[in-house]
Amino acid sequence: MAPHNDVEAFHEVLRSSKRILALCGAGLSASSGLPTFRGAGGLWRNYEATQLATMNAFRTDPGLVWLFYGYRRHMSLGAEPNPAHHALAALARENKDFICLTQNVDNHPSDQLRTLHGSLFDIKCSNNACGWIQHGNYDDPFCPALAPASVDMPPGEKLPLLDPYHRIKHVTEDEIPKCPSCNKGLQRPGVVWFGESLDEMMLAGVDVWMKQGKLDLMFVIGTSAQVWPAAGYISRAKALGARIVTVNPDAENEDEMFKVKPGDFAFGKDAAEYLPLLLEPVIGKLPEGGKKPSKDKGSQ
Ligand SMILES: [Zn+2]
Repeated sequence: MAPHNDVEAFHEVLRSSKRILALCGAGLSASSGLPTFRGAGGLWRNYEATQLATMNAFRTDPGLVWLFYGYRRHMSLGAEPNPAHHALAALARENKDFICLTQNVDNHPSDQLRTLHGSLFDIKCSNNACGWIQHGNYDDPFCPALAPASVDMPPGEKLPLLDPYHRIKHVTEDEIPKCPSCNKGLQRPGVVWFGESLDEMMLAGVDVWMKQGKLDLMFVIGTSAQVWPAAGYISRAKALGARIVTVNPDAENEDEMFKVKPGDFAFGKDAAEYLPLLLEPVIGKLPEGGKKPSKDKGSQ
């Protein structure tokens, strides 16, 4: 076995690692069967998903944007966390000096999970000057007018909302709840849209954690980590002494291997399948399906 994907050697490193950082991307959600609407072909009805994820789209048609997010909230609430989620949640329980940065929006923030791009389950005021935010809103539908986005269809049948030829009732601005703080702005999904900057408080919190000492290990899971700030965290982690371990189906491709420096690891595997095995020295063997019998909600 090449040293970069030697599980035994990795386990040795993991056993002696105290401060651990993880960065998770779309590949982790895709393993749960959740559409990530990234890249080409990210269509929702006849819209490019990337065009719906903007303040401009929300100003133009907040009801349409909310239907898109209402649908994603509903899908996300119905999705089972995959074994990689369970493994990361178990690592967070075992190691309080572990934090996970996620680029995915299908989970909610916690002390050990920092959501770089916000969360589908955060609601905030569309008026930036207001600053109102509500964490952990799981209402499904979010409001009565969004009920068409929260319908479960029998297997094989398509949700009418997803059929661009099926006319849907327009959701008007009046049907979307107003911000309870300023009474002016509309409530909007607490995700970072294109053209918006990341939450400074959240970034500052990550900085504080990073500066607390030497970093032993950084996981890069289900992401090519090419965009900022993801790429920046990898170089910062290296500067703090961390070894990098990449778990991604492409990780061992020829054009990716140049990133793997001596002492780093790369596993070209699906995280849902492989992460429980990689973390075994710390989290033990997860039961079949990855789920711990305890009150594990897989909040990662
Ligand atoms: Zn407000």
